[in-house]
Amino acid sequence: MSGLVIRGGDLCSASVSGRFDLRCEYGKIVAVGREIGPEPGDRVVDASGLLVLPGLIDVHVHFRDPGSPERESFLTGTAAAASNGVTTVLEMPTSDVPVTTAARLERRGAHLSGRSFVDFGLYAGAGYDSLDEVGACARAGAIAFKTFTHRPKPARADAFEGLWAVTEPHLLQTMSAVAATGRVHAVHCENDRLLDHFATAPAAGAGFGERHRRSRPPVAENAAIATVGSIALTTGSRVHLVHVSTARGVDIAEGLRRAGADISVETCPHYLLLEEDTLDRYGSYATCNPPLRGRDARMDLLERLRDGRVDIIASDHCSYTAEELDRHAEDPCGALPGLPGIEFLMPSLLALARRPDQALADVVARMTSVPARRFGLTGKGDLVIGNDADLVVVDPRAAVPFSPDARFLARGSRNAVYLGDVELRGRAVATFVRGTAVFSDGAVAGSPGHGRWIRGTGAGRPPR
Ligand SMILES: [Zn+2]
Repeated sequence: MSGLVIRGGDLCSASVSGRFDLRCEYGKIVAVGREIGPEPGDRVVDASGLLVLPGLIDVHVHFRDPGSPERESFLTGTAAAASNGVTTVLEMPTSDVPVTTAARLERRGAHLSGRSFVDFGLYAGAGYDSLDEVGACARAGAIAFKTFTHRPKPARADAFEGLWAVTEPHLLQTMSAVAATGRVHAVHCENDRLLDHFATAPAAGAGFGERHRRSRPPVAENAAIATVGSIALTTGSRVHLVHVSTARGVDIAEGLRRAGADISVETCPHYLLLEEDTLDRYGSYATCNPPLRGRDARMDLLERLRDGRVDIIASDHCSYTAEELDRHAEDPCGALPGLPGIEFLMPSLLALARRPDQALADVVARMTSVPARRFGLTGKGDLVIGNDADLVVVDPRAAVPFSPDARFLARGSRNAVYLGDVELRGRAVATFVRGTAVFSDGAVAGSPGHGRWIRGTGAGRPPR
């Protein structure tokens, strides 16, 4: 069988750093070293002057397929992933209908097999109203579970049915049920009663950004993290805190980890690269929950990333149509939260790694080896012999300036107007999933049936 040789690239992964060749066969890495000669029939990629990284693993995306094709689909979302060096995505359970039963999980897995350019895992939702199905969802292959600690807005109640547990007793029961499956439990932390309290705070004269920030201040997030982490000490949950935006939240999680809780902390590129002035300028186009924070908060979060207290960086990719975003241009309470990040994950990684206070290998680990270990993605996330040949060859200098007119693959990307102010560099030259090119020569390659559904087995381990 003909293989693949990647020559002369600068490899960077948890296990290898330096200029090496790499050979793959039967979808696996079979050699890493110097002067690896190609065998007859091998495809040879010259990676001189380029970076070679393990394919990125994005543990937090909302493509919603088959929920809202006008917003995003697995075809568009995973094409954008492939073009950016992302070789595995973990899809959240928010869809139409939400994935809260084993039958829905099976149906969704079957529907998406054949529609994905990259490998994927599927979350199931766990809420107080869907407790009975948690065990069955795990047996059907949920990669992990997701719970919200606040109620959805009435307009979105259907899409979030069975995905939330608000009171402490309900959270305790939901976390116990998920802990019994051995799966990672991803939790969106914002305290429901504090959100209610701040929703009624006076905001006369304040602009969109200020009103959004006041309605979801750091205390709501930090209080929920403390509650969830404290319950985890009792339930033995393997908690994954999604999109943490505050350094204090990271510190609280670290304290609970030292007390014995199994916790991983995720943040997103937008909390590390953008600040509240972006929200002020772009309003509903830059609205996410929790909101973008201030300069000091961002610097403190970057410090936690450098110190190794933030485990995972994920996009939390979430698309809406421009019409939906324009409809709530003056109304932060009605605005739909979420930013379309997957098509910008690689330049975000490199923007972080260019900072003098961050190291490339550390940032790469937070998008490759750490998520693979945490979520039990066996054979992924590192450039070692025997692993899946999930790789990306990257030109770290190539500029990828944002323009709303540029040709994007993800539907939501054109709405990422807030990135117009950020220097984005780092273009994938070629992306391989299990040795097969899914992106090369500037275009998506391969077939959308190549991506495999990875069923969860509960093999994940603590993040460090
Ligand atoms: Zn999300």
